Formats: sequence, C-alpha cells, structure tokens
Amino acid sequence: MNQQDLLAVVREYGSPVYVYDASKIEAQYKRLHDAFKKVKQLKINYAVKALSNISILKLLSSLGSGMDTVSIQEVRLAMEAGVAPNQIIYTPNGVSMEEIERAASLGVQINIDNLSILEQFGAKHPEIPVCIRINPHVMAGGNTNISVGHIDSKFGISIHQMPHIKRIVENTNMTINGIHMHTGSDILDIEVFLYASEILFQAATHFDNLEFIDFGSGFKVPYKAGDIETNIEELGEKLSKRFNAFCKEYGKDLTLAFEPGKFLVSEAGKFLVKVNVVKQTTSTVFAQVDSGFNHLIRPMLYGSQHEIENVSNPKGRQRFYSVVGYICETDTFANNRRIAEIREGDILAFSNAGAYCFTMSSNYNSRYRPAEILWYKEKAHLIRKRETFDDIIRNQIAITL
Ligand SMILES: *Cc1c(COP(=O)(O)O)cnc(C)c1O
Repeated sequence: MNQQDLLAVVREYGSPVYVYDASKIEAQYKRLHDAFKKVKQLKINYAVKALSNISILKLLSSLGSGMDTVSIQEVRLAMEAGVAPNQIIYTPNGVSMEEIERAASLGVQINIDNLSILEQFGAKHPEIPVCIRINPHVMAGGNTNISVGHIDSKFGISIHQMPHIKRIVENTNMTINGIHMHTGSDILDIEVFLYASEILFQAATHFDNLEFIDFGSGFKVPYKAGDIETNIEELGEKLSKRFNAFCKEYGKDLTLAFEPGKFLVSEAGKFLVKVNVVKQTTSTVFAQVDSGFNHLIRPMLYGSQHEIENVSNPKGRQRFYSVVGYICETDTFANNRRIAEIREGDILAFSNAGAYCFTMSSNYNSRYRPAEILWYKEKAHLIRKRETFDDIIRNQIAITL
C-alpha cells in the first residue's frame, strides 16, 4: 500500500476514508503466533472493539484467531462474520445478568469480573463453565518499578478476594475453566508483566478444572519515532518457558490465551483526509482538514500522536503545521508538526489508524462516518460505505407541534 495506492483510494471513494492493509494484520498475527511457538496450545482472541468491521473479523478468523468481545452486539458481529461461538470469549464489565445469560445461551465462553454476577450465575447455571477475571493489582509504572496500583479499578475481581471466589465456587458447585487478567496498561516492561503473570499462576492453583489461562493484552505498538514497543519475542521466550513449567506442575496442558486489539490492527490503518483550508494566524499555520474528532478522537481524548504524512506532496519542503479539523469545537489532531508543504486540496494520511479510530467515531456535527477500505491482495475493497443523510435521520422522529 504505497502513496499512489492511497491517493487512488481517495479518488475512487472520496475523503475522509479509513484504509486497512490486510498484509500488515497478517504479519502482526504471525509475529505474535511465532513468538509463542514453544507453547503447545496458543489461542489469540482478537479484541473486536479495536476495529469491528466484519470483513476485518473474517480476515482474522481466517488466520485462526478467536474473538474477544465486550458486548452482546460484538458477540453477534463475530457470529455474523462466521466465527463459531466456541471461538468467542465474552469479557464484559458491569453488564446485566440478562446480557450474560444471552451470551451464554449463544454458546460463547463467559468471563465474569465481579463476585455478585459470579454468585448469581453460578447459582442459576452451575453446569456452564466460566472464566474469571482477576485483578492482580500490578501496574507498570516506569522502568523496573512494580507498583501495586489500580486498587480501585472497576475491572476484575481483586486477587485478595480469592477466598470469597472459592467460597462461591464451592457453594454453587460451578466450574471455573479459565482464569484471566487484562490490566489495560501498556506492557512496556516485560518483568512487570511476568510479575503479574506469577500472581495469575498462583491464582490458577486454586482451581482443578482449568482449560486456559488468558493473559489479556496491553501490547504496545510504536506511534512515533522513538516510541517503546513491547518486545513480543522476548516476552514469548520468557512467558512460554514459565507457562510450560506451570502446566507440568498443574499436570495438564493448558491453553495460553491472549486478546490483543491494538497490536494486531493499529499499524495496518491509515486515515486519509483532504485539506480544505490553509490558514495563517499570528503564530501558527493551520491545515484544516475535512474531518475532526468525530472521526478520530484519540488525539483529543488521550493525547495520542498519530504521524501525519502529506501523500500529495511527499517531497515538499518540510514546514511546521497545526493540523485541525472542521467541526465547531477545538479538534486538534497535531500541534506544531513538521510536515511536507501542505497546499489546499492535498491528502494527508494519519498513521496507526487501525485501532480505536473508526470504532470510536460519531456523528457529531451531523457529519457522516467515513467509508472503510480493506487493502487486500493489492486491491482496494470497500468494506463499509460512507454514511448518507438517511443514516443521520433514520431513527429521528419529527413530532407534530
Ligand atoms: C480492550 C481490551 C483488550 C485489547 O486491548 P489492546 O490494548 O487493544 O490490545 C483486551 N482485553 C479486554 C478485556 C479489553 O477490554
């Protein structure tokens, strides 16, 4: 997918538009898989919320990936993409007992993250095995610093509540078939991650019927030059060894599971926008593009820095720009960024636009959500049409006044 390909996509499908490179997704999947090749049973469950287009789900499923879902709608999307229920894990947070029962009735693996639902579910459905989400209270903070954090996190059942978990399991006679953690923080320091894993192994010894241990995600990918990225190969080497040793102690070959989102799809995505206006103020040159935080909210929400390239004028003289959107709200994509000279009408490409970009988009300012393209086998495939005015008006009801 080179610059000419990107420009051709805009010519054919207009802007703004998201483009995903299938070969990059495949390469990342393979890289993670290879890093853990010494483990007998590895399961990668793609975190659907990162990028939930059903063509992306089909692509990942064709590579052998399962799906990690956080809502009943994501479960349905995965099934719509042809994924078998036993290849889907459902890891919600704070949802109703009814929704969990619906997911269970579809035959997906349930992962429970609070004692109240664990007790209710176990009492009502002791025959359905469940996974439990543990909060190990380990948080990566700085280089070798292991801090006991997230004590008040809303995610997971505290590791300190293990006696309570065991009492519920005994009282209800339910089966725990998996144990899980997902701290949500970036894995920058492998030693910190391994330390959290030890807590999970320790927790695992309390259950006799485990089939898998799920280490969640948090794999970090680079967004800009100099960013630290999780060393997957080193993690694979170290965790595989420890996992295999644990399986020996446990007396059974368990499945090692992960549920990466960002790692698999972030770098595969480009977001293409057109420059509407170049505007000088007293101190700044603004490039105003035909998008805003309605389409890509990460810079405003998280302060994320997506690289921006001028694909229309890649050899232009480097100048400094603030790239902003067109919605009536401060929607800064980048401040004082060095970019090849920008002219009105140029196409800019944002990098790392695969994960948490389209899925977090909205109709704010009554704008349409962009089209999505999958670049697959050297060709652009439209995988989501751009919205139209019908989509804006569809569920609105004009009452008689
Ligand atoms: C969001 C999420 C993930 C994926 O996290 P990434 O940082 O995108 O890899 C994995 N597991 C659960 C439970 C999640 O909520």
